[in-house]
Amino acid sequence: MSRKRILIVDANAELRKTLAEYVLGPEGHSCLEAASGQEALQLASRRSIDLVLADQHLPDIAGIDVLRELRLAGLHMPVVIMTVEGSESLAVEALREGASGYVRKPFRTEDIMSAVRRALARAEIESESYRALQQTNRQLKQRLQQLEALQSIGRALTSALDMQSVLSRVIEAAVGLTGAEEGSILLHDDKTGELTMVASKNFDEAFVHTFRIRTEDSIAGEVIRTGQPYLLGAAAPQKIKTAYLVHSLVYVPLKLQDRVIGVLGVDNRQQGTAFTEEVFMPLGALADFAAVAIQNALLYEETHNERTKLETTLEHTADAVIILDEHYRIILINSSARQLLGVREAEPIGTDLRQAVRNADVHTLLYNLDGRPESRRVEVELPDDVVMNAHLTPVPGVGYALIMQDITYLKQLDRIKSEFVNAVSHDLRSPLTTILGYTELIARTGPVNDKQTEYIRRVRISVNAITTLVNDLLDLGRIEAGVDTQKEVIHFPQLVRYAMEGQRGRAADKHIMLEAEMADNVQTIFGNPIRLKQLATNLIENAVKYTPEGGQVHVRVSQEGDLIRFTVTDNGIGISPQDQNRIFEKFFRSESVLEMSTGSGLGLAIVKSIVDNHAGRIWVDSRLGEGSTFTVLLPIERTLH
Ligand code: ADP
Repeated sequence: MSRKRILIVDANAELRKTLAEYVLGPEGHSCLEAASGQEALQLASRRSIDLVLADQHLPDIAGIDVLRELRLAGLHMPVVIMTVEGSESLAVEALREGASGYVRKPFRTEDIMSAVRRALARAEIESESYRALQQTNRQLKQRLQQLEALQSIGRALTSALDMQSVLSRVIEAAVGLTGAEEGSILLHDDKTGELTMVASKNFDEAFVHTFRIRTEDSIAGEVIRTGQPYLLGAAAPQKIKTAYLVHSLVYVPLKLQDRVIGVLGVDNRQQGTAFTEEVFMPLGALADFAAVAIQNALLYEETHNERTKLETTLEHTADAVIILDEHYRIILINSSARQLLGVREAEPIGTDLRQAVRNADVHTLLYNLDGRPESRRVEVELPDDVVMNAHLTPVPGVGYALIMQDITYLKQLDRIKSEFVNAVSHDLRSPLTTILGYTELIARTGPVNDKQTEYIRRVRISVNAITTLVNDLLDLGRIEAGVDTQKEVIHFPQLVRYAMEGQRGRAADKHIMLEAEMADNVQTIFGNPIRLKQLATNLIENAVKYTPEGGQVHVRVSQEGDLIRFTVTDNGIGISPQDQNRIFEKFFRSESVLEMSTGSGLGLAIVKSIVDNHAGRIWVDSRLGEGSTFTVLLPIERTLH
C-alpha cells in the first residue's frame, strides 16, 4: 500500500507518539497529530489527509462528532474510531455514521494496523468506483448536451427554409459538441468537380471564399466517394489542403437519399487533442440535418423557380389569365387581365373577382354556375369595341381558370361578312321574285308541254329554296344587328302551341307522335313574339326532320324559379359529341344529315341569336342513335325590369 497521511486524534500524547513512531511510521505512513476534536477539524480542513484515527473520548467533542463534522464539511476520508472496552453500542453508532472501522482500547499493534489497512483498502475501492461514477456522469452529461443541441437544431430546421441559417447552426453545433477548433461544410460542385465551403466556424473569411479543393485527391473527396466517415486521430499535423495542416480531423458524409453531396468536418489545428470515433454519432446526426436543410432549400428553390417561370410566362402572354379559388377569389392575375378588366395593381391577391371587376359579362360567367362542373364560355364586351372570348374552366383542387382571348378582329371580320351577306341577300330578293313571277307567266303566254311544266316546277322549287335561304340570312342579319326589338309581354306556352300546330302536318306525314306538356300558371315573358315563335318552330321542325318515321317528339314548357324552361325531345338520329359543339354555328350541318334532308344550316344559328337576344341560355343533350333534347331557359318578365 502506498504512503498515506494519517491524522491521529487523541488526548493522550504518549499514545499518539507510540502510534506515529512505532506502529504507523514503520508501515510507511506519515502522521499528523491532534489532541482535541477542534484541532483535528482545523487540520483536516487545511491539509489533505487520507485517514483519521480518532479517540471517542476527546476533551472537547466526541470522536464520533469529529466524524460528523468532517462529513458536514464535505470531507469523505475514512475515519477509524478508537473506543474503550464496554461501549459497544457507541461503536455500532459510529459505523452507522459512516466510520470505516473501530478498535477497542487497549489494543494490540496488529489490531490497529489491520483496522487502518482495511479502512484504507475500502477507501481505495470506494474512490475507484466514485471516479468511475463521475466518468459515467460526465459522459451522460455530454450525451445530454449533444441530444439537446440536436433537438434544438431539429426544431430550427423544421421552421427554417433558409438553407444558410440552418447550415450555420449545424456547424456551430458540430464545433460545440466535439470541442473542435474549426468546422466546415463542404459541398461537391458537379460542374467543376470541386468542393466549396458553404458554411464554416472559426475559419478566416477570405480562406472560406477562396476554398476550393479537387474531389479526386482529397480526404473529403474520399468520404464523398465511399460514403464512409473519416477519422484522422493522429496528433501529428497532416495536410488536408496545400499548406493547411491539421492535427486531428473528422469528416462525415452529407447524404441526400443515396447520393453523397458533401461532407461535414471538424478539426483541431492548434492543439494536438485527437478526436475519437465517438464523435461519429453526433456529427452524423448533424450531417443528416444539414442534408435535409439542403434538400428542403433545393426543393423550395425548384418550386420557387417553377412558379417564377410560370408567372413570367403568364405575365407575358397576350391572353388574359386569372386563376381563382373556389370562392372566386383571385389567386393569380396577369397584367393583360389587369389591363383589360381594369383591375388595379393595388387590388390584392385574394380579392373576390366579382368585386374587382365591374363587367356584366364576367359577372354573368361567374354567377349562375349552379355548381356545374363543366367549363363555360362567354363573349366579354369591353370598352373601345374590344371583344374577348372568355373561357371559365374548373380546376380540381384549385378553383377556376379564367382565360380570355382577344377576338375583336374575328368579330369585325364576322360583322363585315354578315354585312356583305346581308347586302347580297337583299339584292338577291328582287331578282328571285322576278324569276318566280316569270315562271308563272310562262304558262299564260301559250301552250306548255308536260316536260316544260315539269321543268318549270323544278325551277320554282329551287327558287323557293333559295328564297328561304335568303330570308333566313336576312332574318339572322336582323336578329344579330338587334334591329327587330319590338318586344311585348308574352304567354310563352301559347306561342309554342301555335308553333306545334304549324308542324302537325309534317309530323303526321312521318307518323311521328307530337306531344306537348305545358305547366299551368307559367309566368309571362317579355319578348319578340315573332322571333320566339320562330325559335319554337325551328326546334320542333328539326326534331320532326331528324326523327325517322314512327318516332316521337315531346315538347315541354315549365317554370323553374325565375326561368321558363322549354325543351324539345326527340328519339331521332341524335348528334355526335363533336357535332354538338358546332350545331349552333351558321351553315353547319352534320355529315350524317347531308344526304337525307335539305336545309340551310341556319336554323339553329337563328335560334341561338334569338335566345341571346332574350337573355336566355340554350344547350343540347344528345346521344347518337338515341335522340336529342334541346333546352332553352328564358327569364320571366319581372326579372327584366
Ligand atoms: P338544318 O336543319 O337546316 O340543317 P339547323 O341549323 O337547324 O340546320 O341544324 C344544324 C344541324 O344540327 C342539322 O343539320 C343537324 O345535323 C343537326 N340537328 C339539329 N337538330 C337536330 C335534331 N333534333 N336531331 C339531330 N340532329 C339535329
